[in-house]
Amino acid sequence: MNIQEQKNKLEEEKKLLESELSGLGRVDKTGDWEATPEVQTAPEADENDMADRSEDFEERSATLNVLEERLMDINHALQNIESGTYGMCEVCGMPIEEDRLEANPAARTCKVCMEKVV
Ligand SMILES: [Zn+2]
Repeated sequence: MNIQEQKNKLEEEKKLLESELSGLGRVDKTGDWEATPEVQTAPEADENDMADRSEDFEERSATLNVLEERLMDINHALQNIESGTYGMCEVCGMPIEEDRLEANPAARTCKVCMEKVV
């Protein structure tokens, strides 16, 4: 397995995620991402509009949480590359299958343990 290639893939996805995240929210003081409400001043907004907007905000929050979790996995994998422990299953400590890492460079567990967890 080519670690440099995995690293490139991770960094590319990280950039993508960060740009998606910055379109949905902002980083708060603790370094967490939070969704920002749509900044729109529409004086003619009626109650239906308001309801739509809060639904939209919840959707953004949900999407943002998924992206943030993925970003954390990626950062974790990048750290593992730095420390030389990349590609090891966090549960059983065995090397993760190469095809699994190719499909998901940020995988934390091998296939056997993934099935156990899910
Ligand atoms: Zn395992």
